[in-house]
Amino acid sequence: MKDNFEIHTLFSGSSGNSLFIRAGDTKILIDAGKSMRTVKTALSTIGEDLCKIDAVFVTHAHTDHTAGIPVISRNYTMPIYLTDQTASQLLEKTSMEHSRFTVHKERDIVEIKDLKIHSFVTPHDCNGSVGYIIEIPGEYRFGICTDTGCISKEMVNELCFCDGVIIESNYDEKMLKEGPYPYYLKQRIAANTGHLSNTKAAQLCCMLANAGVKKIMLAHLSKENNLPELALKKCCNALYENGFFDIDITVADRFVPTRF
Ligand SMILES: [Zn+2]
Ligand SMILES: [Zn+2]
Repeated sequence: MKDNFEIHTLFSGSSGNSLFIRAGDTKILIDAGKSMRTVKTALSTIGEDLCKIDAVFVTHAHTDHTAGIPVISRNYTMPIYLTDQTASQLLEKTSMEHSRFTVHKERDIVEIKDLKIHSFVTPHDCNGSVGYIIEIPGEYRFGICTDTGCISKEMVNELCFCDGVIIESNYDEKMLKEGPYPYYLKQRIAANTGHLSNTKAAQLCCMLANAGVKKIMLAHLSKENNLPELALKKCCNALYENGFFDIDITVADRFVPTRF
């Protein structure tokens, strides 16, 4: 990765997601799914400060991506970018004011100083869900795409032109099937608009490796229905079986900032 492009997951999984990206002196967050205090603490462990963040982007309205957004939006002035559908859901369930939102279309391009941020639609059971491609044009192109029940054509088209990507590897099928979740929740997770299984994540890794992606991080792992070793093994095996031996593949920690 280019030296002036730095990416860290701050925390990852169903208990909260947030991603920090710096390119030159441009700094953004994608999602803030834990309290403002937790986001601030995580940022401070990587030497960063919430008051230096130029913009926050929100992938979708689920709490594990938005828990910190209302308080951050009241205490800081950076713009909060989201789709219209995500804004409506946050207005309904929080005391946020519409004036704090900067709405973008589901498929849109936003420029924040040195960064070009491009949204695309993801298959998830939350209206207005998007993934983002973040790039310094001509230098580095990065994609973040979690909370996807299946591998859509649109996702692949967007992610395959990236140098590095973060994708979801949410659950091991056997662990989900035999695990403690109630039936309806198992059905929701395994649906095409739920979350991505390790098997599908491994498939997606191969498709992306085949398209030239060199660096992949697996994120949003379920605490109850997955293990980092299982997710990693599934992807590595699939990559090796298909002849891809040079892919840099890692797993985001649930609680501790993890450098991409
Ligand atoms: Zn999520
Ligand atoms: Zn979600």
